[in-house]
Amino acid sequence: MSATVISKNILLVGNSFGGYSTLKSLVINLTNTSKTYLNPTNSQLNVNITLLEPRDGLVNILGIPLSIIDPKYAATTYFNFDQNTTNLPINSKDSLSLSNHVQVKINHVKEFCRFLHPDHAITDKDQVLNFDYCVLATGRKRDWPFDPKGLTKNEFIKEMEESLKQIEDAKSIVVVGGGALGVEVAGEIKQHYPDKSVKLIHPHATILKEPKLPKEFTETSTKLLQDKIGKENTLLNTRVLFEEKKKGEESITVVTNNPQNKLKCDLVLWCIHHSNNIKFLDYKDSKFADSINEKNELKINADCSVKGFENKIFATGDITDLDVIKSAGGAVFCGNIIGENITKLILAPSEILNQVAVWGPGMAITFGNNTTISYQRDTQKTEVNNPEILEFYKTYCNSYLAANLGLQ
Ligand SMILES: Cc1cc2nc3c(=O)[nH]c(=O)nc-3n(C[C@H](O)[C@H](O)[C@H](O)COP(=O)(O)OP(=O)(O)OC[C@H]3O[C@@H](n4cnc5c(N)ncnc54)[C@H](O)[C@@H]3O)c2cc1C
Repeated sequence: MSATVISKNILLVGNSFGGYSTLKSLVINLTNTSKTYLNPTNSQLNVNITLLEPRDGLVNILGIPLSIIDPKYAATTYFNFDQNTTNLPINSKDSLSLSNHVQVKINHVKEFCRFLHPDHAITDKDQVLNFDYCVLATGRKRDWPFDPKGLTKNEFIKEMEESLKQIEDAKSIVVVGGGALGVEVAGEIKQHYPDKSVKLIHPHATILKEPKLPKEFTETSTKLLQDKIGKENTLLNTRVLFEEKKKGEESITVVTNNPQNKLKCDLVLWCIHHSNNIKFLDYKDSKFADSINEKNELKINADCSVKGFENKIFATGDITDLDVIKSAGGAVFCGNIIGENITKLILAPSEILNQVAVWGPGMAITFGNNTTISYQRDTQKTEVNNPEILEFYKTYCNSYLAANLGLQ
């Protein structure tokens, strides 16, 4: 009797926290589940996993507030997709043999997804990548230097050297936006350069305005920031309209909606703009129009499949409409579930797919990495300088995340 050969193509678009955790979960679950569901005497499973990711590796973006002033630290936050770092045969001629009858081939295509169709993607270099299952984990775009443009580790380090130079050259810096990014950036710069003037401008009465967190969290955070950079440098209820550099002037003018707050400075760091990287779904006659909500988020079901593309296309991380505070931990959690669900669809299609229950709020923020505030969903307490959190955030969770994802 000839063996039944099952061949599947899985495309992972975006390979940071969400995409890479899906890859790890697929490898683990295909190994375990195939033992139960695949008859070794007459079945063979060949899985091709393609990582469509323009970067050479995963950047721990949590550490970007420190990376922009410390290129040596930045280097430790970049994990190349090579055999030494991942312990996986990525772009190798060898397959990963999960057993005698399960072979997994992993290819990394260093390109951007330009268009996604229901069964194939087209890259920015016009490659067509067909898939049986697809996972979208393309995260958010932010302003430079917080969303580095370089695609290699060296380019990333060079960009961080450039941002360090800009910050070192500036005597006065305005940070626009008191969300997590702005607060951590302002705190780090002030901690490393206590003599520089660092101002943070925020449109609301308290920073880190997150309706899911208790008032105590945002109020205490506001006080901690004021202690760190100075009360007079924390401009609340103020909206920045634009920055301009007048002809013949060295400094930049920051124009706000408060005429008394027209500021001069040497450098403006914009920490407010972010948008979901899902432009590849937006083209004439796209079938995805009904799967995107008014906030430009992908609508997903409890099994993490994209609405309208059940059992075929999944999404995780910042681009989804999951009603939680978006986090690397959340992207990894859903990535793990997606890996399990795709394995079930391949090997045990009659089984019910795993479902995600929306989890409670949690957040940890640094003000320079020697002060933290955290709200943990299990204790539901706002804590300043919780020793465990302080320890994790000395490196912005670098070793914790690497260990969690199996990266060396
Ligand atoms: C300053 C800061 C601090 C943070 N602190 C924390 C924290 O303490 N704890 C926490 O849990 N979370 C934190 N977060 C949030 C966390 O970083 C995000 O929630 C997490 O990165 C989301 O993961 P993701 O996989 O969805 O997307 P990302 O990590 O954004 O990764 C997206 C990937 O997709 C790729 N990509 C983009 N476009 C395309 C395309 N067209 N084709 C192919 N690939 C593409 C990108 O190159 C990138 O590798 C912080 C974020 C910031 C900015």
